[in-house]
Amino acid sequence: MILYRLRCSKGHEFESWFKDSKTYERQEKKSLIGCAVCGDSKIARAIMAPRIGKKGGDAEIPAAVPAPAPSPEQQQMAALARRMPKEMREALLKVRAEVEKNCEPVGERFAEEARKIHYGESDKRGIYGETSDEEARALAEEGIEFGRLPWLPRAN
Ligand SMILES: [Zn+2]
Repeated sequence: MILYRLRCSKGHEFESWFKDSKTYERQEKKSLIGCAVCGDSKIARAIMAPRIGKKGGDAEIPAAVPAPAPSPEQQQMAALARRMPKEMREALLKVRAEVEKNCEPVGERFAEEARKIHYGESDKRGIYGETSDEEARALAEEGIEFGRLPWLPRAN
């Protein structure tokens, strides 16, 4: 993973992760990268450090990082787990284990599956997965029963 500092044609600067420099170049060519501020797809790499000598090549990018970046949610969860009292953490991990044992994992299809079960298009069963705040709100408005819990990283 590489962290690039990017700049749009309107001068907004923002940072974005890419698998490698080739991925960045491919996405940049196809205008797949949008400015984080205004959505502009005319993106160029912002210079992060004074250039020394030669042009081009990855060697001069000081922001290259070897490890993949954890997502903001994972970071948040890990921070939450660190602040949590031990008993609470253990209780949550226990719930997680129970859920994993008794329910079917549906991952990002959670909202879709929950709806199907609610409207009788799918067998009634326990499921677990991920959903966005927006989807969770929509589900609640439709009267679909579900619970949310902080999904702590097991390593904690
Ligand atoms: Zn912009």
